[in-house]
Amino acid sequence: MRPTGRLHLGNYLGALQNWVTLQDSYKCIYCVADLHALTTMENPKEVLEIKSNIHEMVLDWLAAGVDPKRSMIFVQSQVPEVMTLHTLLSMVTPMGWLLRVPTFKEKVRQMDETEETVNYGLVGYPVLQTADIILYKADTVPVGQDQLPHLELAREIVRRFNHRFGDTFPEPQAKLTEAPLIVGLDGHQKMSKSLDNHVEMAASSQETTRRVLTAFTDPQRLRLEQPGRPEVCNVYSLHKIFGSTSEVATVHDECTTARRGCVDCKRHLARSINGSLESLRARREKFSKDPDFVRQVLEDGAIKARAIARQTIAEVYQRMGLA
Ligand code: SF4
Repeated sequence: MRPTGRLHLGNYLGALQNWVTLQDSYKCIYCVADLHALTTMENPKEVLEIKSNIHEMVLDWLAAGVDPKRSMIFVQSQVPEVMTLHTLLSMVTPMGWLLRVPTFKEKVRQMDETEETVNYGLVGYPVLQTADIILYKADTVPVGQDQLPHLELAREIVRRFNHRFGDTFPEPQAKLTEAPLIVGLDGHQKMSKSLDNHVEMAASSQETTRRVLTAFTDPQRLRLEQPGRPEVCNVYSLHKIFGSTSEVATVHDECTTARRGCVDCKRHLARSINGSLESLRARREKFSKDPDFVRQVLEDGAIKARAIARQTIAEVYQRMGLA
């Protein structure tokens, strides 16, 4: 995950909860992708914020239940072997493969660049991503549908490397995750910090309520006497995630029969969100009081990750005929 600072409900429900569950059946490796973040950073202020963003994001991971005793948690750049592997993999990766990645063209457009002017790091993004996976010989990667082309590219790079230098890496398989799409409070397709339509996991109860009260609802419902349409209402979709089955049924019933106002409905939702996140927020508060806690978790994680990474690099050097 790129270090974006404090995470929001979309990150929590779309990724983190799944990460926590995966720990029950896999040996998991969770990495803060600070090098990836550099590929699109042009503003010096953003660069200065990386360290505090890492700290805040990892606090959210730990509060959500990502457990350093069961999983490796570290910062990508603290395992420099990943950069070595990135360089070596770039020797077997044709440019054409990278230029046809759908998200590459999209990113170039978003950055207002061209394929001629964009930094090399962005072109090589999927190679670094492949290095992130195979450095630890990971066999499974939890991904959403949109990440499948990247993983397919990682497999192609592995096949090419293994073909040229001998069987070294397993082909990583996708573990498709069914994450609910969390719509932004403004009704935008996706909750996102940059669109400022989000609720932070770590927000206070008051801030959560303030934010939820700004949420868009059924746009055709202008007065309390009009029945609402929960199926098109953003607030209702969040009730379905944070409310009990009976609460959701009540919301539906009272909305469609015009017995519930949208403001009360939003206050109800804010209470449900605050209730669901209460223990997570308390854990985060506790962790945040120990300034060394996150640093120690990341240091320990990097030591464990480097032990694996060094072995892989030694093997790769030998396969590639390097001294
Ligand atoms: Fe949405 Fe609730 Fe208003 Fe119905 S009452 S439109 S579910 S906010």
